[in-house]
Amino acid sequence: MKKVIPILSGRAAAPRFAGGPLADTRGRPMRDLRISVTDRCNFRCVYCMPREVFDSSYRFLPHSAILSFEEIARLAGIFVDLGVKKIRLTGGEPLVRRDLPRLVQMLSSLGAELTLTTNGSLLAKHAAALADAGLDRVTVSLDSLDDATFRTMNDADFPVAKVIEGIEAAAAAGLSPVKINMVVKRGVNDGDLVAMAGRWRGTGHIVRFIEFMDVGATNGWRMDDVVPSAEVVRRISARWPLEPIDPNYPGEVAERWRYADGGGEIGVISSVTQAFCSSCNRMRLSTEGSLFTCLFAQSGHDLKTLLRAGASDEALRDEIAAVWQGRTDRYSEIRTLETAKRPKVEMSYIGG
Ligand code: SAM
Repeated sequence: MKKVIPILSGRAAAPRFAGGPLADTRGRPMRDLRISVTDRCNFRCVYCMPREVFDSSYRFLPHSAILSFEEIARLAGIFVDLGVKKIRLTGGEPLVRRDLPRLVQMLSSLGAELTLTTNGSLLAKHAAALADAGLDRVTVSLDSLDDATFRTMNDADFPVAKVIEGIEAAAAAGLSPVKINMVVKRGVNDGDLVAMAGRWRGTGHIVRFIEFMDVGATNGWRMDDVVPSAEVVRRISARWPLEPIDPNYPGEVAERWRYADGGGEIGVISSVTQAFCSSCNRMRLSTEGSLFTCLFAQSGHDLKTLLRAGASDEALRDEIAAVWQGRTDRYSEIRTLETAKRPKVEMSYIGG
């Protein structure tokens, strides 16, 4: 049995949060919350959950270990009180968690923007129910339009056409603009990036090209596999000229570019070549209720024990605030070949 063990640490008693704007040690506000609702996924993307590690003997979390919808909703309310403006449900694959629209409905009244990242495989089935429950938008991962390449990358023999059906169902349900994430790996799917841009140009959907990252410890990351965003922009621009545009808000992950001819926009996410740690405003709540202040973290802060021991909202708020206020992370600014080998927590566990 192979298991990638997340390393978790507890925290000493937290000082009480005195109110006011919440900022970490580098002055960064807590604005976005990513909630992983499951560590399971029906894909085995080679760069994220390689089948050799996440095989039939891999021990995923038992149901008793993962936060219930009620627990998630309670914590999410506290995060919103602390200033969170946007909540993203992720995983694993969030749509493999049964009854997800019920959680969406519970979160929809909190007043934060509510979004979901999915591989799209189950989206055609659930898009209308998610929209009815109050989801605002959806991001769908799609790494190639070439069916053979896509099937190889998801390693679940899943066809492109079904993901496109999901994207269309999401748009029809009003979950737009749909964002489409493509992780670009050199020699694997970088030959498809211009076609991907062309497929969604003029549709109102926004493709975001993501640099392959050294998340977790199982994906065999090498710098040679990374296609820098500058090259992505250059290659698309050679076909349809692009011009940069301002972010929608400070700390937006994707750098925005628009087609000079009015064909819409794309985004590039350059975690490797242009670290954006200095404006990172994201907190992550793992499937089993630990807080992570960085995607590349080696350890988390257990919140579930406090929650299940009957802590008051105030105590939970103080704990969350103290974790954020003590945050020093800037992994992408200090990444080296050595740090890439560190035992980091897997993205499927912490939430992408
Ligand atoms: N299952 C959902 C999905 O496929 O979108 C949500 C979870 S997934 C971990 C979230 C996003 O992280 C996906 O767009 C995925 O492609 C991206 N991702 C996973 N591993 C990555 C890596 N090593 N580098 C860059 N992006 C990665």
